Amino acid sequence: MPDDKLNSWEARADAHSFYGFTDMPTVHDRGTVVLTHGKGPYVYDTQGREYLDSNSGLWNMVAGFDHAGLIKAAQDQYARFPGYHAFFGRMSDQTVMLSEKLSEVSPFERAKVFYTNSGSEANDTMVKMLWFLHASEGNPQRRKILTRVNAYHGVTAVSASMTGKPYNSVFGLPLPGFIHLTCPHYWRNGKDGETEAQFTARMAAELEETIAKEGADTIAGFFAEPVQGAGGVIPPSDGYFQAILPILRKHDIPVIADEVITGFGRTGNTWGCETYDFMPDAIISSKNLTAGFFPMGAVILGPELSDRLDAAVEEIEEFPHGFTASGHPVGCAVALKAIDVVMNEGLAENVRTLTPLFEAGMARLAENKNIGEWRGKGLMGALEAVADKDSKTPFDGSLSVSERIANACTDQGLICRPLGQAIVLCPPFIMTPAQMDEMFGKLEKALDKVFAEVA
Ligand SMILES: *Cc1c(COP(=O)(O)O)cnc(C)c1O
Repeated sequence: MPDDKLNSWEARADAHSFYGFTDMPTVHDRGTVVLTHGKGPYVYDTQGREYLDSNSGLWNMVAGFDHAGLIKAAQDQYARFPGYHAFFGRMSDQTVMLSEKLSEVSPFERAKVFYTNSGSEANDTMVKMLWFLHASEGNPQRRKILTRVNAYHGVTAVSASMTGKPYNSVFGLPLPGFIHLTCPHYWRNGKDGETEAQFTARMAAELEETIAKEGADTIAGFFAEPVQGAGGVIPPSDGYFQAILPILRKHDIPVIADEVITGFGRTGNTWGCETYDFMPDAIISSKNLTAGFFPMGAVILGPELSDRLDAAVEEIEEFPHGFTASGHPVGCAVALKAIDVVMNEGLAENVRTLTPLFEAGMARLAENKNIGEWRGKGLMGALEAVADKDSKTPFDGSLSVSERIANACTDQGLICRPLGQAIVLCPPFIMTPAQMDEMFGKLEKALDKVFAEVA
């Protein structure tokens, strides 16, 4: 290998970085893209190439990559008080203010908030809260967790067990007691001749049967993303939450909305549960919470769960859980600013303005004979590649169709994400209509190129 290659950023990345969620053949083939900075929705690599990031980083950089107000909020807080914890009855003033703000903007009439460093840890924390709560209320056997196939709730041992993706079998997960219901994806999972209403009723019946079989008194809680994100951007079938909520309520099973992606405006309302018109008992937040400018997650407890947990804590005097950086003052200051930026500087508004353009662009690309469906809500969507549109037959897995499409996009300076055989788009809230045209134009070229090769 010539010296310049040996010392390249790519070679240096390979030598000492252990990759996660990365297709290694693609890295060996194409090299690692090493990024140095960003501007608006664009990022730039070490060779000066520009990429429009149609995925907001990892769903989270909703205000783009150089928002001056967010940078200043972090700088100011670093200068004021650069770090503290939230143990032993101490916490920063920023932490107090963020909890007030989250309570105010939550769908709950009042809320209490617990902080983590990530979405995985927030889900993990919520499961521990439920186990703690049920045990303290005399129901220690209430430990099972219900989620759905294709759910993504994170990567810690517990949140990976909640995630309903086959790759977790390499870890011997899920742990016992994590139950995955059918993914409410009508296009893929509806039976021949079944209407969407019948499909939704079947999902509800499955839930009822699962509860009966497992025993309601063994179930700790039900977790759902309002729109499944990393499972492939899958909105629920029509009426899904209205069909399942009464069943969960009847059996006193707490309902947790994992709003790590859907929170703070992504689906057109502040919360995905507003978009789908249901009231959970708690909300899990991360990603957009700080617009990606600081690693942070939050468990937002609605009034009933927070009262019950308060009572449980009174009894044993403490909730023995927390992270060193829970409620980090810089993270809280950044989150306060991010919420303000999204809600009051026109970003949430821009999501609503852009949504019809986004839908029109997706619908146009879905006319392709190798796109089986487009699906999505607000500014998140997916195009599902198929070998045959009528029979919905996927491409042979060995063709790696979605990876090839994503690579063809990268070659033109567009980052998008392959997920199964779908291409996922999740643009930042600051996108302009012209940038959206650029995104769809480049994606269309990539689709045409790859389908011409494989179809
Ligand atoms: C990303 C994600 C998580 C996990 O968050 P991390 O910060 O990566 O741990 C959990 N739930 C949902 C819905 C997510 O999209």
